[in-house]
Amino acid sequence: MIRIEHIGIAVKNLQAAEELYGKLLGSPCYKREEVASQAVITSFFQTGPNKIELLESTSPDGPIAKAIEKRGEGIHHIAFEVADIRAEMARLKAEGFALLNDEPAKGADNKLVCFIHPKSANGVLVELCQEIR
Ligand code: ZN
Repeated sequence: MIRIEHIGIAVKNLQAAEELYGKLLGSPCYKREEVASQAVITSFFQTGPNKIELLESTSPDGPIAKAIEKRGEGIHHIAFEVADIRAEMARLKAEGFALLNDEPAKGADNKLVCFIHPKSANGVLVELCQEIR
């Protein structure tokens, strides 16, 4: 794994959270993007070498809506940048981690992504992401 690429934060109201995080970080979001397959709208902030991703559900049945229902707003996942997502998926699978997808999926911000089940990582939802070139 190369580095922490971003931290994902589940929010109820993206507009309000964008304003708040813009103030907190001292710079506005640089990108908003909907990922229909995940039923979310995302908003990205650059913080030095890392990013913050705010996520608002577009559906009451979406994974972010369910996460907020269970645990409230807050840190939803930690994303690690990888050079070769398929190789990392194979390595982690062999190590016994439960992957939530068998194939890399198209995520926000020009990335291929794969999630690791929180039960495999001490309650943390881990995202692997690889830049699409
Ligand atoms: Zn993410």
